[in-house]
Amino acid sequence: MSNGTFKLRVAVDQDVCVGAGLCVLSTAEVFDQRDEDGVVKLLQTEPDEALYEKVLGAARKCPSKAIKVEKLTDDAAQGSGSERAAQCGRDRRRGSGGLAGRGLAARRRLRR
Ligand code: SF4
Repeated sequence: MSNGTFKLRVAVDQDVCVGAGLCVLSTAEVFDQRDEDGVVKLLQTEPDEALYEKVLGAARKCPSKAIKVEKLTDDAAQGSGSERAAQCGRDRRRGSGGLAGRGLAARRRLRR
């Protein structure tokens, strides 16, 4: 479903998921966990845009940054590009500006 303004695209990296389940608790419409090991399962790759804030929140809270959210504009949905709303995963953690790194740095500053 789309209201013509944007389309939501979600991906997960099962290789980095630690099975914490926070995504399932917050957004069970989109995420589930495998019975055998708790690793995330994606129920919808293109959920309704009404779920955008919830999905983005799940991506931000994911401890392993295994969730990627893209907000595609009408032009992008037709193949000319996309606005990346949240890029998570191994590549992000390797970089110098990852959210996980900043969170850790902030926590360390608070402990001092
Ligand atoms: S919140 Fe992240 S680590 Fe936890 S189950 Fe979901 S994708 Fe995996």
